Amino acid sequence: MAKLKVTNLKKSYGSLEVLKSIDLQVTEGEVVCLIGPSGSGKSTLLRCLNMLEEVTSGEVVVNDFKLTDKKNDINKIRENIGMVFQHFNLFPHLTVLENITLAPVDLKKATPQQAKEKALALLDRVGLKEKANENPAKLSGGQKQRVAIARALAMNPDIMLFDEPTSALDPEMVGEVLNVIKQLAQEGMTMVIVTHEMGFAREVADRVIFMDNGYIVEEGTPQEIFGNPQNERTKDFLNKVL
Ligand code: ADP
Ligand code: MG
Repeated sequence: MAKLKVTNLKKSYGSLEVLKSIDLQVTEGEVVCLIGPSGSGKSTLLRCLNMLEEVTSGEVVVNDFKLTDKKNDINKIRENIGMVFQHFNLFPHLTVLENITLAPVDLKKATPQQAKEKALALLDRVGLKEKANENPAKLSGGQKQRVAIARALAMNPDIMLFDEPTSALDPEMVGEVLNVIKQLAQEGMTMVIVTHEMGFAREVADRVIFMDNGYIVEEGTPQEIFGNPQNERTKDFLNKVL
């Protein structure tokens, strides 16, 4: 079953056509890694998947709900889509625990007590239970990103979107964040991950999508894309990054 279905999606900023015609389906439990050069439209595509950007035309359907239909309550649908950004975007004036409990309590998904219990369990899962009462400024980049992942998971999302979750990290912290994402993959979370970590994509992705210049140029299993790319642009990109 398609958790996420994108049909003929186009996005322009003024006269700049950034997404030209994107068709994409992600099935339940599937892990899709999006790769491609800077400026190819990867972040814009992710942002269109949860309506952080208004699409120019085309359709995005999540769990049979048409996000692009103005009649549907975007905020309700968005609650089921977790997003993790390159720069963590934690609330600096809240503790780690408060960062995680804020949305579930605000949106009445849980009582404060339930939200706290769940947050502590999630912190335990990402190895940061002892940091619950810290201020985010006291954490390393890798720890901040693990909190950001826990925060997204606190809403019980159906899908998780990651936009270069390790790009802002010092090299020694990349592994701890990728391990958390790997664990989610093993647990069957449906995920779309923009990444420059080719080794990670090879290991964790069910499908790898290569984007260039606003198009999906090529897609396939990691073996196909990394082992035997067909398109010249894919080959060229991989030659530069591998
Ligand atoms: P990627 O994530 O693959 O590096 P982006 O989706 O960030 O690519 O950007 C794709 C193109 O869209 C780039 O040319 C970028 O400059 C442009 N772009 C992205 N966001 C905006 C915006 N808010 N306004 C205008 N142009 C944008
Ligand atoms: Mg980007």
